[in-house]
Amino acid sequence: MNQIRIDKQMMLVEALRRFLPVESVISDEETQKPYECDGLAVYCEMPLLVVLPENLEQLRQVMALCHQHQVPVVARGAGTGLCAGAMPNSEGVVVSLAKFSRILEVDPLARIARVQTGVRNLAISEAVAEFGLYYAPDPSSQIACTIGGNLAENAGGVHCLKYGLTVHNILGFELVTVEGEVIQIGGDSLDSAGYDLNALLIGSEGLLGVVTEITVKLLPTPEAARVVMAAFDDVEKGANAVAAVIANGIIPAGLEMMDSLAISAAEDFVGAGYPTEAKALLLCEVDGSSEEVEEHLERAEKLFMEHGAFSCRKSESEEERALLWKGRKSAFPAVGRISPDYYCMDGTIPRSQLAHVLMEIEKMSRHYGLRVANVFHAGDGNLHPLILFDTGVSGELEKAEEFGTRILELSVEVGGCITGEHGVGVEKIRQMHTQFNESELAQFHAIKAVFDPSGLLNPGKGIPELKSCQEYRSIEPQGG
Ligand SMILES: Cc1cc2nc3c(=O)[nH]c(=O)nc-3n(C[C@H](O)[C@H](O)[C@H](O)COP(=O)(O)OP(=O)(O)OC[C@H]3O[C@@H](n4cnc5c(N)ncnc54)[C@H](O)[C@@H]3O)c2cc1C
Repeated sequence: MNQIRIDKQMMLVEALRRFLPVESVISDEETQKPYECDGLAVYCEMPLLVVLPENLEQLRQVMALCHQHQVPVVARGAGTGLCAGAMPNSEGVVVSLAKFSRILEVDPLARIARVQTGVRNLAISEAVAEFGLYYAPDPSSQIACTIGGNLAENAGGVHCLKYGLTVHNILGFELVTVEGEVIQIGGDSLDSAGYDLNALLIGSEGLLGVVTEITVKLLPTPEAARVVMAAFDDVEKGANAVAAVIANGIIPAGLEMMDSLAISAAEDFVGAGYPTEAKALLLCEVDGSSEEVEEHLERAEKLFMEHGAFSCRKSESEEERALLWKGRKSAFPAVGRISPDYYCMDGTIPRSQLAHVLMEIEKMSRHYGLRVANVFHAGDGNLHPLILFDTGVSGELEKAEEFGTRILELSVEVGGCITGEHGVGVEKIRQMHTQFNESELAQFHAIKAVFDPSGLLNPGKGIPELKSCQEYRSIEPQGG
């Protein structure tokens, strides 16, 4: 560390310790190590400092101090993000919200809960289960990720097809601005006066403020829920069956797809009873009243058979339903067991393009010589190709990145989007040029400047510099 950096760090530590306990300011490299990256570990950086405020007043003072000294701030939830959104800034402070972990209020009549930002997603549903309620958005990482991280990434999950993304399930929240001021966004009801700042700030990736408290919508736990698992000998047939279910007027609570590599990895890992000879597997959950579930399940099964499924299995108990989902929800770590590294892409395409895009990805896989496991929210058209590679093999990381870029470009070409639910972060910042033109990006910069004129909040993430636009567009796509 150079002397200027050491001096800056010492000055900040001294100032922070005036209002934070000693253990809440981490300055040594060894203790900082767990904060150097998020779930996308190929991008990492050591920060100047990590701080763990315990309450609003401490956080407010941290923000004011950083603002006074023009020090970048990166908010951090559980660090499960997959786009390097919580990766530290080398000249900045990581503000961990881990200590904001209390459920403050549950109102079963209004069907809302007020929780601190560091509460884990699953902990909300667990806490309100006694009232017959639950919080619908369920990222596969829900056991670990925080509601604040979900808000910042506008997280999705299996049940978002029917119940909407995070943005549809949050009513209001408290935000600390870059200057350390506290503002309330939204409220306790479905609509509030003025501009809809919920929609603007949810998904803003920590670029516009730090969230401290969140009011979430709760839903009644459905009377019944069942899954039908359909196996296909061909990816194209599976993809077409997805479009057919939705076109038939069934809105499943979840409609997920896995290809053969993902199926065998998940089956080896958790033994969910998946047919490993299948080339594509669909898990379709329907929920609601018992009659509705029976009817929709029969209809979905019939449609799958008509579209070429060679077998269908319906869950007959809660245990069986949970086991079928366990395979899907464990698919990422399962793939982690069969490859030294994997790169999880996240793009969204129109459902009608699923078969075409999956075929193209298969071609690219051959072109780059890298295996791909597909496991994704098929009903939403939200792809998650997991590109398998080995950082230990020279050039493989670069190949995987180029492959990923091509997938995102293809998503845009077919009328889709470079993000589904994981955000832009550092990972997709260059592809923002594919999705948006310079005028559109200039509008994003203008919004950022309203909240954060000096660009101190999560710099280098989410929105690319305009000057890099020309440079990016001059690069020819490489094959695939
Ligand atoms: C195995 C696995 C499965 C996953 N499955 C899904 C899935 O199904 N759906 C999905 O959407 N995602 C999924 N993810 C990605 C990830 O879990 C989500 O993006 C999640 O919302 C991140 O939450 P976090 O608390 O870990 O946030 P972090 O990773 O700590 O941070 C994410 C971003 O939010 C910002 N941030 C965090 N807290 C705050 C705050 N209080 N105020 C302002 N900004 C803040 C950070 O600066 C960063 O930009 C998965 C990840 C893994 C590892």
